[in-house]
Amino acid sequence: MISIKMQEQVQSSSVIRAMFEEGKRLAEIHGVENVFDFSIGNPNVEPPEEINEAILEILKTENLMSIHGYMNNSGYEEVRAAIAESINDKFGTAFTQNNILMTVGAAGGLNVIFKTLLNPKDEVITFAPFFGEYKNYVKNYEGELVVISPNTIDFQPNLEEFKEKITPKTKAVIINSPNNPTGVIYSEETIIKLSEILREKQKEFGTDIYLVSDEPYRELAYDNVEVPYLSNYYANTIIGYSFSKSLSLPGERIGYLVIPDQAADYKNIISAANIANRILGFVNAPSLFQRVVAKCLNAKVDIDTYNRNRELLYNGLSSYGYQCIKPEGAFYLFVKTPIENDVEFCNLAKKKNILIVTGTAFGCPGYVRIAYCVAYKTIEKALPGFKALIEEVK
Ligand code: PLP
Repeated sequence: MISIKMQEQVQSSSVIRAMFEEGKRLAEIHGVENVFDFSIGNPNVEPPEEINEAILEILKTENLMSIHGYMNNSGYEEVRAAIAESINDKFGTAFTQNNILMTVGAAGGLNVIFKTLLNPKDEVITFAPFFGEYKNYVKNYEGELVVISPNTIDFQPNLEEFKEKITPKTKAVIINSPNNPTGVIYSEETIIKLSEILREKQKEFGTDIYLVSDEPYRELAYDNVEVPYLSNYYANTIIGYSFSKSLSLPGERIGYLVIPDQAADYKNIISAANIANRILGFVNAPSLFQRVVAKCLNAKVDIDTYNRNRELLYNGLSSYGYQCIKPEGAFYLFVKTPIENDVEFCNLAKKKNILIVTGTAFGCPGYVRIAYCVAYKTIEKALPGFKALIEEVK
């Protein structure tokens, strides 16, 4: 009795989530310490201390009715103002509270913006490999996701193919840097070229093409690599930010959209997005956590922990003969499978109690994603299994 659309979405439902459930099943059989679950991007580094301190302070000092009450669908004015100021300090922008809309994580924000922008059959372009949920987020509003094939040399976007695939129906382009699943950060050179292409195509077709920047991993960048702030390069940028990874709060569902004044039709977009937030059923972003993050805008998780994991896993796997790009950000390693079939490779890994996700789930077969937001010890204990795996298949 479920809708045809949901039947399709159930069928293609998240492979990552399925692996995560499989991990729990295997842990019950073999013991949690003998299962190496690299399937899901659930942060393993604790939130910074400031989070608990902020919660306690808010609960002790503020009016309970207002802590838990409804507010403007876009979020508390003072929270949005604090976020705007913090972005301005970091990136030299000039946002105000009117440019910020508090959302239910990045996922909520992306749904709000696609509901706001898309007419049926409008096209949204993305670059493989990409976060598989984009398919659902676009389909939710009857849009079409157009996937640009991967550039497996360095996993920067394939801009030649991009140029060819932009059409008068292209309403938006969604990018994600630092990237899930590759960990690659799109360089400033890439962003400049991508922006130029978009400006040319807007002119050619007389349309507006919005660049949606999905940024849950912005703060997880290693070796001081800069992550360009996209609204400084392209006027029609909309930024989707989340505190899920930056402050290790994925279950609290808190993030925001930035809709700059210079984006075409800004006023209508922000008022429509405000309504979309409400009528999608979010109503508003969680009240307490809006207040909490506003007090913690300079707090950081300990990214050295992820960095140590990155080094251990990358160096270990490389020494066994696996091929992958050293990630500059996020907490994923995207590894070429030593056999062609990535699904088969994941099944072989599962026999060694190693849970990883197929590249196919990200539109890039022949690779697997290993989420290294796990204990250091888990990687140490899993490495012999990875070594045995490559020896077995070679
Ligand atoms: N976008 C990307 C690229 C992600 O990896 C994730 C979560 O893993 C999301 C969006 C959703 O993030 P949130 O939990 O903030 O909704």
